[in-house]
Amino acid sequence: MNQKRRKERVVNVEALIDWLEMYRTLPIGGVQNAFPNTASCQRRLVEVRWPSGVKCLSCGNSNIGFVKPRSLYQCRSCRTQFSVTAGTIMHRSRLDLRMWFIAASDVIGAHVYGLEESHLTGHGLAERYGISYVAAHRLKTTLMKDLRQPGNLLRACICTEELSVTRDPRQKPDEWYETLWYAKP
Ligand SMILES: [Zn+2]
Repeated sequence: MNQKRRKERVVNVEALIDWLEMYRTLPIGGVQNAFPNTASCQRRLVEVRWPSGVKCLSCGNSNIGFVKPRSLYQCRSCRTQFSVTAGTIMHRSRLDLRMWFIAASDVIGAHVYGLEESHLTGHGLAERYGISYVAAHRLKTTLMKDLRQPGNLLRACICTEELSVTRDPRQKPDEWYETLWYAKP
């Protein structure tokens, strides 16, 4: 194998491992059941984003009120108002938060089974989620890029389970991939 091919192969294995690790830590009964409505997704986002309580995005203060009619948090110190999705990829999206959760798990599953080409077409997603082609395409490209970023918020929200296997430092990427593949969900 020449240098370039070898490098590509390593990159691919690492990507596959990454997707499979996400897949193996999805909720046992699926994202749809674990998060049955928008409110449950919002609660999950809050607990992942601010594990020790909501903090002001502007000044970091933790004395925060909630403006119910507008579903916004308000800092009691600097008066800044912000939503739970402010500053995230889900911000100002027309898509429901739950749809982001479900689409993310779809994107993960498609990569694990090598179905990106057939399962993640703009038209297919548009039809499945009842959104426009443009919105579906944007959703897909955003998720494919962002989910693999370390510390991604959406990933942390939907990957609720612990891996049932631990990586042995001596394991080669291929071996770890196989261990993961046969690991209990
Ligand atoms: Zn503030």
